[in-house]
Amino acid sequence: MKYIRFEAENETMYGMVDGEKVTKLSGNFIDGNSEKLDQTYQLSEVKLLPPVAPKQMVVIGLNYEKHAIEQGKAIPEEPMMFMVSPGAIIADGEKIELPTLDHKIDYEAELAIVIGKEAYQVSEEKALGHVFGYTCCNDVSDRILQKKDGQFTRAKSFKTFKPLGPCVETELDPNNANIKLTLNGEVRQDSNTNDLIHPIEKVIAAITKVMTLNPGDVILTGTPSGVGALSPGDNVEIEIEGIGKLTNEVAD
Ligand code: MG
Repeated sequence: MKYIRFEAENETMYGMVDGEKVTKLSGNFIDGNSEKLDQTYQLSEVKLLPPVAPKQMVVIGLNYEKHAIEQGKAIPEEPMMFMVSPGAIIADGEKIELPTLDHKIDYEAELAIVIGKEAYQVSEEKALGHVFGYTCCNDVSDRILQKKDGQFTRAKSFKTFKPLGPCVETELDPNNANIKLTLNGEVRQDSNTNDLIHPIEKVIAAITKVMTLNPGDVILTGTPSGVGALSPGDNVEIEIEGIGKLTNEVAD
């Protein structure tokens, strides 16, 4: 099933998507007790919001071998994790704003995990039982600050640096999904999550060994090779098979 958060009739709503039809839900799908209401919209007539509003956003770095090589980094023996600000999240269709034109600011296509059930010290075997679903994220990154700081929070947390969406898909094999990014219509990243160094279950187990994740929290799972710089006016589209397309423009 595909779930969205959207705005219609000046109200924030939650819905289930079936083709072009959106059925309004009685509440937030992430709470697990929302029901379908007798109210429908056309997908084209609603304004999409980021599908979830996480309190925590945990990011895994260097999780595809070829990307680690292109960044000149060693392959991490265990999932390399850090936090970014959920305040950087924007919706499908919103604009990415580059804070400066002097820095190299890259796109990064990533599969995002949305937690559905509180998770602390969860085993790899039980990890997927704590997942609500999956969405697309663009882990926009200021490479100059990333290098200068030696850690990544500042480089990846600027407002608008985390496009997320368009929907949360509950039925997906997260370790076998095609992931593709096009920049102005040209394919720049093209991979499959079966190339992940540390698969989804291992990532969840490693993070929850340390911290508690709650429903709605988001994990970014790393980007494939082919990252590159964004420029004003660019159109960047991330497509994950089974989820859909996340499209954002870079503001002029
Ligand atoms: Mg990344």
